[in-house]
Amino acid sequence: MVDIVLTADRTMMSTHHDSEFLGFGTCIPPYILPTSVYGKLFFPPVKAKQGVATVAPYALRKVEAKLIDLGFDAVVAHPSHLRRFNDAKVIGISTMDPFGLGPASSTFAAVLQKGEPFNALFFKRLIEDKNIKKAKENGAKIIVGGPGTWQFEHMKDFATEHGIDCIVMGEIEKDAETIFRKALNGEELPLFYEAYKNPAPALEEIPEIKHASVNGLVEIGRGCPRGCPFCDVTKRRLRWYPLEKIEKELEANNREGIDFGIIHAEDVLLYGVHGVKPDIEKIEALFKLFAKHYKRLSWSHTSIAAVASEPRAAELAKELFLNEQEWFGVEIGIETGSPKLIERSMPAKAKPFEAKDWQDIVCKALGTLHDNNIVPACTLIVGLPDEREEDTLATIELMDKIKDYRCMVVPLFFVPLGRLTDRNWFRAENLSASQIELLEVCLSHGLRWSKELARGYNKGHVYSPIVNASLVGFIKMIERVAKRKNLVNDSYANAFSSSQ
Ligand code: SF4
Repeated sequence: MVDIVLTADRTMMSTHHDSEFLGFGTCIPPYILPTSVYGKLFFPPVKAKQGVATVAPYALRKVEAKLIDLGFDAVVAHPSHLRRFNDAKVIGISTMDPFGLGPASSTFAAVLQKGEPFNALFFKRLIEDKNIKKAKENGAKIIVGGPGTWQFEHMKDFATEHGIDCIVMGEIEKDAETIFRKALNGEELPLFYEAYKNPAPALEEIPEIKHASVNGLVEIGRGCPRGCPFCDVTKRRLRWYPLEKIEKELEANNREGIDFGIIHAEDVLLYGVHGVKPDIEKIEALFKLFAKHYKRLSWSHTSIAAVASEPRAAELAKELFLNEQEWFGVEIGIETGSPKLIERSMPAKAKPFEAKDWQDIVCKALGTLHDNNIVPACTLIVGLPDEREEDTLATIELMDKIKDYRCMVVPLFFVPLGRLTDRNWFRAENLSASQIELLEVCLSHGLRWSKELARGYNKGHVYSPIVNASLVGFIKMIERVAKRKNLVNDSYANAFSSSQ
């Protein structure tokens, strides 16, 4: 028997064929194909040994490490093997997007009008698992954490109806001992534990992971200095980890056979600085450390302005990370093509440059990434509270300027997060004609580039030819549907035929 069992749903407990890029597939609702096909394509399950997950999402590994350091008996269980752990006293569940209300899921669901996305479906399946119910009947406490916990504020009844005892919002390290001790003692817990309102954990309170993380992801710091009002990350104080701390986690992954991975931060290129100007010496030391332990690497997130202000970082990544892979992906927020909207709503986004030059900064950054075989998955926000018609037109203009850069551009409907929780959600029925045109342009751009990227996806990986052929088939299916519904923008038609 184990006292504390940590787990996550099937969409999170996956390596997405060794690349986070495919994780986007968990945000779509079932559409045309059966769920089992999507599962194989986007979220094949990780392996288990005696019910324990061999690799697990980084956030779960962090909690597991904290609990072990505190002397608790805790493991990360595979969600398909919970029958081995239904006598646990506490079940901790990590979630990213439990109800599909996150920007990507809610946008895809609204556009496709096909109901709940996979991440929501599988979260519900997990929480309704008969083994979790059995543990609960035996008196176990259920604690939920992770970046998606804000969604429970809109779904309080679900939490109580499903026997959830405590939802931890924010970084748990400072409070882990109190929360789990009370849970083990069977004491009452608050339904919402707002850890983000307490002082953030100091570096020495944040443990190093002890076992392998999904896709070798290793965090290098927390927080972001740009303070965009719509972003939840603004609730986290900026901290960077020293290289020695990072290396311990790389070694933990190496010990369990992981030799590739993701450098994780809200802005990888700002490593070690507290302003907005990258420090190339710190970046170089960081990249060399990762390259010492991993053969293939990617960045989780960076910013347009950081790439544009320090192009040598992309060149260095190409030199160090692209020996065994053709390209790597990274998430970047463009958010808008409108310099005026950047100025009004998120002026720090452009720093150290001026907001008025936003389109040039975006082109410079995407050009630098293109030249160095780094493929950004860029986000745009549709329906920001102070967005005007002229801003949407400026974004369409920007899309034309960047159409020959290898990138995906994903438009996301505004979701009230960060400092804008009192604003209204943007709904599909509020789309203006120009916003619809923008969605079509992004879809056309994505279809054009995704076929090329899918063909070279994870080259050298044992599953690569099968996965890539399936991906190309899937993209062509979406393209046929899009063309039939006249959703493909004319100005991209030639690009389509030339890339087929
Ligand atoms: S730059 Fe990105 S991570 Fe930083 S505050 Fe803005 S949206 Fe959030």
